[in-house]
Amino acid sequence: MEAVEGEKKGGVVLQGRYEIGRVLGRGNFGRVHVARDLRTGKSVAMKVVTKEKVVRAGMVEQIMREIGVMKRVSHPNIVELHEVMATRTKIYLALELVRGGELFGRIVRLGRVREDVARHYFRQLISAVDFCHSRGVYHRDLKPENLLLDEAGNLKVVDFGLSALADHARADGLLHTLCGTPGYTAPEVLRDKGYDGAKADLWSCGVILYVLLAGSLPFADDNIVTMYRKVQRGDYRCPTWLSTDARRLIPRLLDPNPSTRITVPQLVETPWFTKTSISKPISIEPPAADPAPAPACAAQEEGEKDEPETLNAFHLISLSEGFDLSPLFEGDSANGRREGGMLVAPSVLVVDVKKDGGDTLEYRSFCSEQLRPALQDIVWAATDPPGTAAV
Ligand code: ADP
Repeated sequence: MEAVEGEKKGGVVLQGRYEIGRVLGRGNFGRVHVARDLRTGKSVAMKVVTKEKVVRAGMVEQIMREIGVMKRVSHPNIVELHEVMATRTKIYLALELVRGGELFGRIVRLGRVREDVARHYFRQLISAVDFCHSRGVYHRDLKPENLLLDEAGNLKVVDFGLSALADHARADGLLHTLCGTPGYTAPEVLRDKGYDGAKADLWSCGVILYVLLAGSLPFADDNIVTMYRKVQRGDYRCPTWLSTDARRLIPRLLDPNPSTRITVPQLVETPWFTKTSISKPISIEPPAADPAPAPACAAQEEGEKDEPETLNAFHLISLSEGFDLSPLFEGDSANGRREGGMLVAPSVLVVDVKKDGGDTLEYRSFCSEQLRPALQDIVWAATDPPGTAAV
């Protein structure tokens, strides 16, 4: 691919397509910038991940999983991943831009939120979580910092860095990796004897609901061991100002026993969840207008010189199917040297696309409306049964 990073009106342009602007936030492996897609004029959030930092932290698999998961889930309350680009040293994720800030910031400002406002966010959270679970994805790090708000006051889940897929479960059907954020992590995850990812996410949703309604964490202590003990015992107090329905629901979410903890189908039938809201919280402050793109972007600051490269169709297939994202961490990513798929000639690869779960109609329309059109320039023969693309 040709070198296309350059300057435009003092700002850095990535691959001739994204004009990089101000920093929105800092992640573990790099910054998140506002960027303008010059093809559409629309703004995106460009997450810049420095490969070296990821490799040094031993988290290659985690970041690849995050990208794979975000490609797998598309839902109005989950931040959308538009495009992935990679250079020799960096990965660029063009994400849906969410302008209302973190839900956490709102709680910090307001102390706590009204019950009908909390219900609005909580319903959207459960909708996103339930959708992920139906796709075999467990977030495992749900907390207010990972919940952003758009201008209309809608909640968007971000940061799938720790998420797990159902197929990562061991033979006992349970997940075994210890992860999450103290204070939001379910007791069975801390016990490390295997856990059901869906139930563990529901516990975190319970902590989030408590934080929204009470303005403080249910399990807090300066001493982390004491805090973990409280988590194990489900030792917390519900504030007296909560409604009876809320006081009934919270213990069912913060039930230390995952087998008796409430499930999503039970949750969505509870009086607190189904209650008609009086008002919709759309009082998010108007976003600051995107300033002219700042001259500095992470790539430039850190001496980025190599060529950005949009993932080709092979990579996209691996993103949505097998999660083989190894090309992201290879210098020469377009030579067809990869496992999975059959290498016919250095430039020809046969890829067999099959559905291994999920909705058949959705899969068929994905094949006919997205996959085939996206591959039309490189499809060599496509006379096979629906869903099999010869590339
Ligand atoms: P990490 O996973 O490395 O912690 P995050 O994805 O949490 O990084 O991003 C860091 C910060 O960047 C977030 O806390 C948020 O403030 C901001 N951010 C991330 N994604 C977006 C987005 N899509 N729109 C707006 N801001 C975002």
